[in-house]
Amino acid sequence: MIVEVQYGNKAKNIPQVSRDYLAAGFSVMWAFEDDFTGDRFLLDRFERAFQEQDGTAFSPYTTEPSEVWEVFDPREWFDFPEDWQLEDPNPDCSHEFEHGRDEIECLLCGTEYRRHSESQSPIYRENNDPMHRVETVFVRVDDELEKPVPTDGLPHVHSWSGGHESSKLSCRERGCYAKKVDGKSEIVIEYTRKSADDLETRQMNNCRHEWRRTGDGKECWKCGKEKPDDDLYGQSW
Ligand SMILES: [Zn+2]
Ligand SMILES: [Zn+2]
Ligand SMILES: [Zn+2]
Repeated sequence: MIVEVQYGNKAKNIPQVSRDYLAAGFSVMWAFEDDFTGDRFLLDRFERAFQEQDGTAFSPYTTEPSEVWEVFDPREWFDFPEDWQLEDPNPDCSHEFEHGRDEIECLLCGTEYRRHSESQSPIYRENNDPMHRVETVFVRVDDELEKPVPTDGLPHVHSWSGGHESSKLSCRERGCYAKKVDGKSEIVIEYTRKSADDLETRQMNNCRHEWRRTGDGKECWKCGKEKPDDDLYGQSW
């Protein structure tokens, strides 16, 4: 339990410090002149501050660190980088965020996402680049429950890692069963507990494969599917 006594107009970032205390497991009350008479601290005001949740007292039993920003407006306490905003510019998109070249980016709409380093709030940048090419992406979800839920107010970001075939990836974040297949002109994301090796794009499904040698093996030049090992054996007989 921490009581922060504020004299006058000291430049302390109340929401930010509250968040840090909550994250460290402490309760905090911000006490001002009114909370004292002479040399005594008014205990009833202390209790009321926690009961009323009016933004002067926070307890880890009632408030998640990120919920501090439901009481305060981060825009009043921080500067945000240019073009970045707190509101999701494309809330209708069921964003599939992954690590892009420079920023975390939604595969579906190109919206960029970052965690604001000072407030720890998620912030977004709309992708207005006319040259930005959003690839054809299909998302298959059998059961919405298979999709990861945001934790501490932050959207899920896929962290892909390769499997047996380089075009077939699995998210290695805990609690996420997303698999991704990168074809020649299509990407499929599927939420499944199956192995990524079994996934194919529609193009791969409907393709009469023609294999040709690429850098590290053989893949179909039309759909991007890698030549299965058994085919290799088949040919050598
Ligand atoms: Zn999106
Ligand atoms: Zn994921
Ligand atoms: Zn093919």
